[in-house]
Amino acid sequence: METTNTVQLTLEMPYLKAALALLVVVLAVLATELADRRPVFTAIIQRTILIYAVVDLKCTSLGDHDYTKLIKLKRYLLGKTPYGVPIFDCQATGTIALTYDDGPYEYTIQLLDILKAAGAKATFFITHVTHNTQSIKLLNVIGGSNLAKGPIDDETLPWANIIRRMYREGHQIAAHTWTHPDLQFLSESDRRNEMYRLELALSSLLGVIPTYMRPPYSSCEDACLATMKALGYRVIYYNLDTDDFDHTLPDQIHDSIVIATQGIEAVDVRRGSILSIAHDIHPLTVSNLTVAMLESIRRNGFKTVTVGECLGDAESHWYRKV
Ligand SMILES: [Zn+2]
Repeated sequence: METTNTVQLTLEMPYLKAALALLVVVLAVLATELADRRPVFTAIIQRTILIYAVVDLKCTSLGDHDYTKLIKLKRYLLGKTPYGVPIFDCQATGTIALTYDDGPYEYTIQLLDILKAAGAKATFFITHVTHNTQSIKLLNVIGGSNLAKGPIDDETLPWANIIRRMYREGHQIAAHTWTHPDLQFLSESDRRNEMYRLELALSSLLGVIPTYMRPPYSSCEDACLATMKALGYRVIYYNLDTDDFDHTLPDQIHDSIVIATQGIEAVDVRRGSILSIAHDIHPLTVSNLTVAMLESIRRNGFKTVTVGECLGDAESHWYRKV
């Protein structure tokens, strides 16, 4: 089964990649003419770029690795917080769990400084999205994504130390897959490899792997949830979407600040709690949105905690030793 999959990928992926690359170039040429006037067209371009990036990454990035240790790892489902079940809400009254996806990236150090100054803990859903091939760099320019940041476990790049700092400073490290694919469209073995490969990197940096994950694009239904349960993951969504990825420009970020602060103010601190989502790959998410949220959190009396803490899960259950 495994062998068949590998053979198919090897034979078919490069053709798919070439076809998608051609489509991306054609769309990119058309984009400057049409994108401003046609939001649907922009969405098609972005989606095509993402599909191309995933195919490209699958061709070269997941690679051959020995997952024996991770496959054999006993993954006990400890604690009361359920595994393999979508979780949208915190449990602990008066808490807010700030979560950040897709990092680390160039703005994450500033974010850690801001959180430290506020005495706030956050949760980081880490993804790798790797390698510096020219194609990915080109896509990065076209797509404005973080695809060319380089391997998170490459000690010559800043990401490894940033992840260690997150961990050291009491933030929660959680998984967001290796290449940020839509897990729904993957085979069982590819889905597992997306998690194993990230686990391999995080275990080499921290000596532990997380028991919390968030599926890219909030996409993880029955088969995917079963995989996550088998691998011992809590599947975390959110109940306050700051929509920051739609408001990355200076004249847009105010909209996310309004969404976030109104969301915080709408919850009675004596009765409710909040689980928010934002992305530390956008500079204004860090410098403007987070600062405004922390001010609103302070004003409304919430305690800023990790996802594990807001769910009442003991810290010893957030990770597994490898
Ligand atoms: Zn993401």
